[in-house]
Amino acid sequence: MAKQKIVILGAGFAGLQAARRIGNQFEITLIDQYNFHQFQPLFYQVATARLEPSAISFPLRKIFQHKKNMHVRMAHIESIDFNKQVVITDEGLFNYDQLIIATGCHTNYFGNENIKKHAFAMKSTTDAIALRNRILLNFEDALNANEDELDAIMNIVVAGGGPTGVELAGALAEMKKYVLPRDYPDMDFSRLNIYLIEGSDHTLSNMSGISQKKSLYYLEKMGVKVLLNTLVADYDGDTIQFKDGKTLRTQNLIWAAGVTGNIPNGIPKEWLVRGNRIKTNEYNCVEGMNNVFAIGDISYIETKEWPNGHPQLANVAINQAKHLAKNLERQRNQKVMLPFHYKDPGTMATIGKKKAVVDLPFISFQGFFAWVVWMSLHLMLILSVKNKLIIFIEWAISYLTNDTTLRLILLPTKKQIELATEHHDLENN
Ligand SMILES: Cc1cc2nc3c(=O)[nH]c(=O)nc-3n(C[C@H](O)[C@H](O)[C@H](O)COP(=O)(O)OP(=O)(O)OC[C@H]3O[C@@H](n4cnc5c(N)ncnc54)[C@H](O)[C@@H]3O)c2cc1C
Repeated sequence: MAKQKIVILGAGFAGLQAARRIGNQFEITLIDQYNFHQFQPLFYQVATARLEPSAISFPLRKIFQHKKNMHVRMAHIESIDFNKQVVITDEGLFNYDQLIIATGCHTNYFGNENIKKHAFAMKSTTDAIALRNRILLNFEDALNANEDELDAIMNIVVAGGGPTGVELAGALAEMKKYVLPRDYPDMDFSRLNIYLIEGSDHTLSNMSGISQKKSLYYLEKMGVKVLLNTLVADYDGDTIQFKDGKTLRTQNLIWAAGVTGNIPNGIPKEWLVRGNRIKTNEYNCVEGMNNVFAIGDISYIETKEWPNGHPQLANVAINQAKHLAKNLERQRNQKVMLPFHYKDPGTMATIGKKKAVVDLPFISFQGFFAWVVWMSLHLMLILSVKNKLIIFIEWAISYLTNDTTLRLILLPTKKQIELATEHHDLENN
């Protein structure tokens, strides 16, 4: 009997896990625009020059070297023809018997083209590298800037008080305190302001009240200017306009204020719900399409416990993928599929050295122990032993010295980009 063809769209936490778990009885094609898997929770450490991008990125072909039924394709997914059961990409067509959509999300600018054009995002390794370059270049620019330019250069603004914004603002505050004064001894860093802008009246809206309060306390103690109940209306690359009419000058706006689903063309509008997520039943299957599944951030399952869908977290993505792999196996053996249930193991965020907040189902704790828990869990989740070691060593060095040695500004020239991508279209969200 010919093997069934499964095509997986996206090699993030969900797609990668599904590809690893689905057995040899299937022929699997894994398609992603990048040739590597990205560990998104540590993007902010790449952006602040604490970790090398290679420490949190894993080449897909290396991961699947020994899986013979696996075909990795680096391609941009353009559309899906569900009638013909084919995925259309810039590198050709891929037929499927079963389709798993795991394309995750991209930054949501809420329709504001100016913000999209001028602000920095944090949704891919390349975004994190671009931000690292910008942050480092910012202070090279500051050396020759006049007073007026300095007003905009010396404000770094992070929009969005979720875990990404909080972790990034904390890391920037540590850079300001420990790293920058050593690198630029002639510069007056009392002029440097790190702002965190949040639309609601608290940071970390997905966490407990005590963790929210503590994160705010830590941030303010570290010198971050947290502006709550503040909404960004527009940004022209030099000045932020807030909804209440106030303005703030900055050349560095980092947008961490929301995400929206990556929806390839061809997906019917009726399948989509809030946040551009694909509504599925509790088997991660799109209603009425028994061979189309959605997992991870892109999927939306409404249950009694999760009336607004599951949280868009790595752990949910990984567990949905594991569950679907088992269900596909059951389906193949003519057994009924089992519904997906998610048990929330808790949430956590780190704000700085010895400062983290952890919410477990029955207990919340903060401070040094929470920070150790945060580090241990992230090290556990990192894919290869080599990368675990590299990250551990980098963290140990920065713990002992409050410094890192990764502050390289690496900017390819236009010609280099053209030459490298001459035969391959790279898409930037
Ligand atoms: C900065 C940041 C920090 C985070 N921190 C945490 C954390 O601490 N803990 C936690 O649990 N979660 C965290 N998250 C959320 C977590 O990363 C996501 O929930 C998780 O990545 C979802 O996995 P996924 O597989 O659904 O999507 P993703 O991991 O986003 O993967 C989607 C994949 O699809 C590919 N793709 C998308 N569109 C196309 C296309 N058209 N063509 C080709 N390829 C495509 C992308 O390249 C990507 O590889 C964080 C997210 C971010 C951005």
